[in-house]
Amino acid sequence: MMNFDRLYRSAVLGVSNNTTIKNLVHDRAKAAVSRFVAGESLPEAVAAVEKLEQDKVHGILDLLGEMVNSDTEANGFTAEILSIFDALEAKPYPKYASIKLSQLGLDINPELALANAKKILTLAQKSGAFVRIDMEDSPRVEKTIEVFRTLRKDFDNVGLVLQAMLRRSEKDLENLSDLKPNLRIVKGAYLEPEDQAYPEKVVVDHQYRRLVYRNLELGNHTAIATHDESIIKDVKIFVEKSKIPPSQFEFQMLYGIRRDLQKSLAQEGFNVRAYIPYGKDWYAYFSRRIAERPANIAFVLRGLFQG
Ligand SMILES: Cc1cc2nc3c(=O)[nH]c(=O)nc-3n(C[C@H](O)[C@H](O)[C@H](O)COP(=O)(O)OP(=O)(O)OC[C@H]3O[C@@H](n4cnc5c(N)ncnc54)[C@H](O)[C@@H]3O)c2cc1C
Repeated sequence: MMNFDRLYRSAVLGVSNNTTIKNLVHDRAKAAVSRFVAGESLPEAVAAVEKLEQDKVHGILDLLGEMVNSDTEANGFTAEILSIFDALEAKPYPKYASIKLSQLGLDINPELALANAKKILTLAQKSGAFVRIDMEDSPRVEKTIEVFRTLRKDFDNVGLVLQAMLRRSEKDLENLSDLKPNLRIVKGAYLEPEDQAYPEKVVVDHQYRRLVYRNLELGNHTAIATHDESIIKDVKIFVEKSKIPPSQFEFQMLYGIRRDLQKSLAQEGFNVRAYIPYGKDWYAYFSRRIAERPANIAFVLRGLFQG
């Protein structure tokens, strides 16, 4: 039997491709969108980074856009991502961006995504910036790992994401360990078939802890990307007991979610980063945030019906 979380997620993500709903949300739910997305332009995103810096929370800039199917679009996104490093050039705070390989052309040809990612990493390296490759849905995982493997040969300033919900992730973590990877561990935001992903939340939460602890034990830098307070509490106990230095891990959260927790962890002295999405292609990202939490649907409905 399908559990409620999965049923809700499939209902929201299932209609997220419906053009009528998409247009309605575009026209009438902008207020709800601005809770999760910093704006449509890079200057708005940089302003969001600077606001968070006041609370000692660093930013991760993420240009929204994914699953492109033309070279022109992929090259266009690459150029826009390159402009992030120009915009951050003289800034005194840490420079950090997240990218999606399907935004750089992965679905057209992995070589195109690889070439575009190399351009991005080369400029990022010159600017002293770090680049994280987000993990997308299960059909793209293998190709994403292969591209990461190739990039890692030439670059230190690149990291990857593993999703606790995917059955394969534990094995992926072990297989990647020769690269000493900098990994962000997330629960996973996509609707996945049961042969690929654990359907029960309690199992995903258990796997999450296992992946974090294992990557830390292997001595690798780990970004603990969750808003789940009980996991954060357990990780704090684990790092203390295992004498993991603070430089080996950080907490990451999404823009607009649990700002109170972001701020309090930073005040406690932990490294904290917020993922700041911006750009015109916010719809897919926004749908995933709504799908994650039933209470969020209220914002959207309020926007739609109040107009
Ligand atoms: C920095 C960062 C980067 C990410 N990168 C990726 C990626 O590359 N690939 C990928 O598949 N996923 C990514 N994700 C999303 C991730 O997979 C989860 O979908 C998301 O983080 C929600 O899960 P959770 O760990 O917070 O736990 P949950 O158990 O879902 O939530 C725990 C608590 O967090 C709060 N919360 C969670 N989500 C929301 C929300 N949408 N709105 C309001 N409150 C919320 C609630 O209080 C909830 O009770 C990323 C997440 C973060 C924080």
